[in-house]
Amino acid sequence: EIVYLNGQFLPADQARISVFDRGFLFADSVYEVIPYYQGIGFRLQQHLDRLAYSLRAVRIQAEADWVGILDELVQRNGGGNLSVYLQISRGSAGYRTHTYDDSMQPTLFACTSPIRDIYEDGAEQVKGYNVIVTADLRWRRCDIKSTGLLPNILVLQQAREAGADEALLVRDGLLSEGTSSNLFLVRQGVIYTPKRSSEILGGTTRELILELAAEAGIPYQEVDLQPEELDHADEVWVSSSTRGVMPVLSIDGVPVADGLKGPLWQRMFALFTRFQHRLMTGE
Ligand code: PLP
Repeated sequence: EIVYLNGQFLPADQARISVFDRGFLFADSVYEVIPYYQGIGFRLQQHLDRLAYSLRAVRIQAEADWVGILDELVQRNGGGNLSVYLQISRGSAGYRTHTYDDSMQPTLFACTSPIRDIYEDGAEQVKGYNVIVTADLRWRRCDIKSTGLLPNILVLQQAREAGADEALLVRDGLLSEGTSSNLFLVRQGVIYTPKRSSEILGGTTRELILELAAEAGIPYQEVDLQPEELDHADEVWVSSSTRGVMPVLSIDGVPVADGLKGPLWQRMFALFTRFQHRLMTGE
């Protein structure tokens, strides 16, 4: 496997960074995960816009030809269907210190891992998720895609140990999102999703769902959602780049409606598939 590190493409086992890198010591770093299908970046510009937003928010100054770097990295790893991970840390002072200054050189790192093309697989292959609902333990700037993911990891592990695939998070009496996904609820043909704020990550897939809904004339609202509203939902979905739009079949062991993939999900999945097909073929 070839990775990218600070201007070089090299085998993963030859890539080295300092033990004083602030990404390692403090999670002083931000990241993106971008799917490539048949060598083509899916919503690449939206990911790069969010990267710029995260970098600005934590005041890391890093500029590079991201498109050129990622496209080349994907090619060097055989093209095809790959998930690209891109991380930028503030770099290192050569010793451990909380404070930083702008003389530090950021560490730029990217690697790939194989993924399935969920759209090629088709709706039948989407298995659906069982989720739990639990407390949101994260900091108050969840709009920044920071690598400080310990709360997300602990809560996801709790979900896994309960036999679930994802955890929905609640803070101050409101649903925010999943540990690595955004949340949608469907009731009487209307899509509801928590509005954008510092409590959630502005997901690129969330944005695409709303764009496709608008185009197809499916009504949606960005609102505050209380956990009790899950009890009356016709459908619940979570979304992320590598999972697309994923139907939730049960919450805390209780089926969502009839416990099957819902009709509006089927429609949204078809819209996604068509969108991706157009992207791949340039039609
Ligand atoms: N929310 C959180 C906390 C995430 O970590 C992610 C992505 O991993 C998402 C939402 C979904 O974002 P995207 O659709 O851009 O992958």
